[in-house]
Amino acid sequence: MNVCKGKGVFGGIAIGKLRVHQKGELHINRVSISDPDKEWQRFSSAKNIAAVQLKQLYEQVIRDVGKTNAAIFQIHQMLLEDVNYISSIENIIRTQLLNAEYAINLTTENILFMFAAMDNAYIKARAADVQDISRRLITILTGGEEVTINSDEPVIILADDLSPSETATLDRDKVLALVTVHGSSYSHTAILARTLNIPLIVGTEITVDSEYDGKTAVADGNDGFVYIEPDDKILSEYQKFINTEELRKNELKSLKGKENITLDGIRIDIDANIFHVRDVASVIRNDAGGIGLFRSEFLFLEKDDFPSEDEQFEVYRTVAEVMGKDRYSVIRTLDIGADKQAAYFNIPHEENPAMGMRAIRFCLSNTDIFKTQLRAIFRAGKYGKLAVIYPMITSVEEIKRIKAISSEVRKELNDEGYELRYVEEGIMIETPAAALVSDLLAKEVDFFSIGTNDLSQYTLAADRQNYNIDEFYNPCHTAVLRMIKIVVDNAKKAGIRVGICGELAADINMTGLFLAMGVDELSVPPSSVLPVRKTVRETDISKISEKELSGLYNVC
Ligand code: PEP
Ligand code: MG
Repeated sequence: MNVCKGKGVFGGIAIGKLRVHQKGELHINRVSISDPDKEWQRFSSAKNIAAVQLKQLYEQVIRDVGKTNAAIFQIHQMLLEDVNYISSIENIIRTQLLNAEYAINLTTENILFMFAAMDNAYIKARAADVQDISRRLITILTGGEEVTINSDEPVIILADDLSPSETATLDRDKVLALVTVHGSSYSHTAILARTLNIPLIVGTEITVDSEYDGKTAVADGNDGFVYIEPDDKILSEYQKFINTEELRKNELKSLKGKENITLDGIRIDIDANIFHVRDVASVIRNDAGGIGLFRSEFLFLEKDDFPSEDEQFEVYRTVAEVMGKDRYSVIRTLDIGADKQAAYFNIPHEENPAMGMRAIRFCLSNTDIFKTQLRAIFRAGKYGKLAVIYPMITSVEEIKRIKAISSEVRKELNDEGYELRYVEEGIMIETPAAALVSDLLAKEVDFFSIGTNDLSQYTLAADRQNYNIDEFYNPCHTAVLRMIKIVVDNAKKAGIRVGICGELAADINMTGLFLAMGVDELSVPPSSVLPVRKTVRETDISKISEKELSGLYNVC
């Protein structure tokens, strides 16, 4: 048995035969030419063919994994037209009188050298895109053929690296896992593998040797281990793991369509958190009751400038329409700042960004951006059951300012002739200040959703981004649980709905306690909907409530 360690980028376990993928050797000779116009013409024709290939690839990938992921091949198309890239090639052909293949290769080496010097993992990962496009051009020029990864049976692919084109054209049914020597978690290959749901291990300490071809292997995308010719013990351990996972998945599937009801008849809503409009499919697939949190800022983070009102409207309308009139979709207004930054936000440097110009503070200081988003949400409200939620609230005064702005927006839209439906307005409770004045806040809004991720960091003074203080960041700390209890009690007194949408909502060890507190909704990642439903259905609140709740005040 040969054990190799890499970095698991996308989880899952695969057992199967290895298929060693070696790219065809590109033979690039340095050839002097006498007619630069003719050579330039040769290059231009190859470029046209590459453009057609990339367009076809783009269309194929849109069909397979959707537009956002196919954007990689739009980037490749743009790269193919990149002025610096092209003029460097032309320059080498015309001034050094060298052949096109050599000019492409030299230009690529120069770009890679430049990228390698940059201290930016994202840019470094783009090197694979430049290599991919150059390889395509040289293959066309030399009349070579693309080496495609074909196999009759499902295999674990072992390669030095995989280009985005190679990954995108993989036959999903024939690939159990991908194991590469190079690659990174930022690469488009990794993004595609995640979307295609294929376990991926990168940076693996292994030689891509054809002697491994056909050998049995275990690829553990969770821990990043690859076992070649595993012994019986490893094989049976992993086989057991796969079987248990299969059973668990089937058991969970059987819960689709079932109610979220405890053994003693208490109901709770289980909704899903999403980042993108494309995540709605997995909300439906996992049978969530609605969308408890749409982190709309990701719509902004993907762009180079603020998305327009119409652009946002299209997204919110799609969410509303797909979810329909019976299921809530709660759209959170822009929660940027802290770890969620884009250059165009122009937020000046801050010493403590998590406590700085983020979320509602940014919106209240940039009301034009805030109003644009609210206009888009309220307009989309007509197409389904939308609600809006405001993040990082600390005071009643903020709510009054928000409500003044939202009424102004509604009035403007009415005056413009838009047909509006009532869109409920709620707030995130994610600061200790909001928790402690939640009795006052409850009088002002339609609902609360407790953001335990931030509530924990602010309550415990423990930066959620800082892995070195992981042990101090404990969302189950009694202080956080007491905060939650205060908020739930105040919401109940005021008669408004209260949910939890931080990661803690998906912790099945806490489900009983949240039910006992009287939480109305848990909003969790789509893949956690069915596990939480299972826990709810196995819980008897009458047996746990007293013990668990009194524990909140007796334990420290
Ligand atoms: C939270 O803080 O718990 C929350 C849900 O918001 P985010 O994680 O996006 O800050
Ligand atoms: Mg938060």
